[in-house]
Amino acid sequence: MNKDIARQIKINGIVQGVGFRPFIYQLAAEHGLLGHVSNTSSGVRIHVEGSPSSIEVFSRSIAKKKPPLAHITETSSEHVKIAGYKKFSIIKSLNQESRSTLMSPDVCVCDDCLAEMFSESDRRYRYPFINCTNCGPRYTIIADIPYDRPKTSMKSFKMCRLCQAEYDDPENRRFHAQPNACPDCGPHTELFDSKGKKMKCLDPIKQAALLLEQGRIVAIKGLGGFHLAADAGNNDAVACLRQKKNREEKPFALMAFDTDIINTFAHVDPDSKDLMSSIQRPIVLCRKRTGNKLSPAISPNNKYFGVMLPYTPLHYLLLKDHFTALVMTSGNLSEEPIAIDNNEAFERLSDIADYFLIHNRDIYLRSDDSIISHMAGKSRFIRRSRGYVPIPVFLKRKVPMTLACGGELKNTICLTKGKNAFVSQHIGDLENRQTLDFFEMAISHLKNILDIKPDIIAYDMHPDYLSSQYAMSVEDVNVTKIPVQHHHAHIASCMAENRADGPVIGLALDGSGYGTDGCIWGGEVLIARYSGFTRVAHMEYLPLPGSAAAIKQPWRMAVSYLYNTYGKELFDLNIPFVAQIDEQKLKFIVKMIEKGINCPKTSSLGRFFDGVAGLLGLQKEVSFEGQAAMELEMIAHNKTHMRYDYEFTYGECIQILPAPVIRGIVKDLKNKVELSVISSKFHNTLIFLFTDICEQIGKRTGIKTVALSGGVFQNRIFFEGIVKMLEKKNFNVLTHRLVPSNDGGLCLGQAAIAAVCGK
Ligand code: ZN
Ligand code: ZN
Ligand code: FE
Repeated sequence: MNKDIARQIKINGIVQGVGFRPFIYQLAAEHGLLGHVSNTSSGVRIHVEGSPSSIEVFSRSIAKKKPPLAHITETSSEHVKIAGYKKFSIIKSLNQESRSTLMSPDVCVCDDCLAEMFSESDRRYRYPFINCTNCGPRYTIIADIPYDRPKTSMKSFKMCRLCQAEYDDPENRRFHAQPNACPDCGPHTELFDSKGKKMKCLDPIKQAALLLEQGRIVAIKGLGGFHLAADAGNNDAVACLRQKKNREEKPFALMAFDTDIINTFAHVDPDSKDLMSSIQRPIVLCRKRTGNKLSPAISPNNKYFGVMLPYTPLHYLLLKDHFTALVMTSGNLSEEPIAIDNNEAFERLSDIADYFLIHNRDIYLRSDDSIISHMAGKSRFIRRSRGYVPIPVFLKRKVPMTLACGGELKNTICLTKGKNAFVSQHIGDLENRQTLDFFEMAISHLKNILDIKPDIIAYDMHPDYLSSQYAMSVEDVNVTKIPVQHHHAHIASCMAENRADGPVIGLALDGSGYGTDGCIWGGEVLIARYSGFTRVAHMEYLPLPGSAAAIKQPWRMAVSYLYNTYGKELFDLNIPFVAQIDEQKLKFIVKMIEKGINCPKTSSLGRFFDGVAGLLGLQKEVSFEGQAAMELEMIAHNKTHMRYDYEFTYGECIQILPAPVIRGIVKDLKNKVELSVISSKFHNTLIFLFTDICEQIGKRTGIKTVALSGGVFQNRIFFEGIVKMLEKKNFNVLTHRLVPSNDGGLCLGQAAIAAVCGK
């Protein structure tokens, strides 16, 4: 006889606030099981009674059929005594003694809610704050844990009778949906002009769409902050927005109603389509269609558009039946964090936006749009933020509680607990007061909602980084502080997300990071473990004429490479670069180099890209780091297999000499070879050169694993090329998938290193 039994099942992960208990309730009913389910301090606990076979099927169905937002990290199950339950019920949460449940990120509105919103007979017809347990805001509206309505920015809205009934009904899609609301009881939108005067209109969203169609710029409050919106098909509007936003040249993101529409102006391959349509709704880089009708000012000198689908109900209302696409760029002046508060937005954006479409649901935690590019067969983060944070990176083993402060540019921070590494949302470039405030706020907020008190603080060795200064200023004798070398952290980050122990050959290739010798590193080959590293090869040191000015003006680097190759004979070179440059300027830079005035030494590969771009005359002045390198990538033909000669010198450390490459390029310039071919040959050269080094070191040490990290790997041609070639040479290649390869992934590596070194 099949006698009834009882089991207790504990599930950890993202299982609260995502409709998990109603799901269990319905699943138990389906299988005729009795017992109960409740939230606990660390997840969900289930007690079921019934036939062993039904319990078996029930248990297996949990992982298979779980709600879309649930993320299970651990399950345990044990036999317990039968208590003789007469029904299955959801019981009140047990006391939250330790607060260690995982929180869900913010995700896009679900299909069920959209169907209701576009149905005239529904009570939430055209209601822009519709949501349910399967969708809507989470992370950005939480002030504290546990995740309950009074601890979110929905606390000021009292649910009406109908909403409350939904909230209380375990069989309803809105059972315990904390942000549940309707037009009678929830948040509302309003439209203002730039002077702060409220516009009289029945439907602020419809009115905002009309204004956008007339070419106006509208600041729109979203999920994780404000966007500045303009009609992407209206060149005047886009150009005006670009000009007002401090004339920066960074590409603007686009939002379009569906992937069919996106396909009219950009190539959407199946992988990108899946990525774009996922509940996280990232910005995905898609190749532009030639002859597309959108404004050329959206992403000048770039072959790609960054495109996303609508993710809030408000976005859907705005875009339905309007626009091919909207420019939706972060609501900030360049360099500052994105605005989240209504007053703050009026203050900071009124010189840019003509109108403000705002609402009264507060954003507690700012979160920019995430950006992803599909490269070498997988999705790669350029920016990891909304939709993904606070899902942790799951580590191989337990680590002490650590705060890792990250770098200077594209800063993120990391807090660890158990096997979880929580990497924060994108914070930004720590170069001004506002971003530093956000950095400090993010640390304290995350410490609070994750309930983490760090025993270790890890930070970059660079003494001038504001993130390092923050770490050094923390006064707590019980906290161990661990400085970490920048490129070691890059490689450790790649190792940690791949759960690798090392040693690995690490290619740490980026713009700049402080070296142990005080020079600016950035073209580094390391043999790395978490516990330490040996620098085995690097780009030859070259002067960086004018320091920061050389990063802004790639032509200065071009002069540095020419001088390194030709000395004073560079003045006689018969190439456009020398012919077109102001002779005084040229002489001035040469003098700086000769006398060593304000010329720190750098082994940066990013600067090598800049220098070559400068030499080809691509950019006189850039508005963001990596812009010249990006343009060099964009003009590459990608067809030729030709490359330039390169050379190493061997000593304690292999040095990579740029001179033979520069000579080859100059020769091609003299012969009027097309720039696109030169760029391709340059990319090919680097792919060969670094593979060659890995082979040499592999042979010498027996290490067959190569880890790739650093901002240079955002270059598609280089990244895809070197992965392919290293794999052909039988290397096991570790790449970033969970955090960006740029400095946005640095904090994870710092934390991984500190976990080993801090013991
Ligand atoms: Zn929904
Ligand atoms: Zn209501
Ligand atoms: Fe870096």
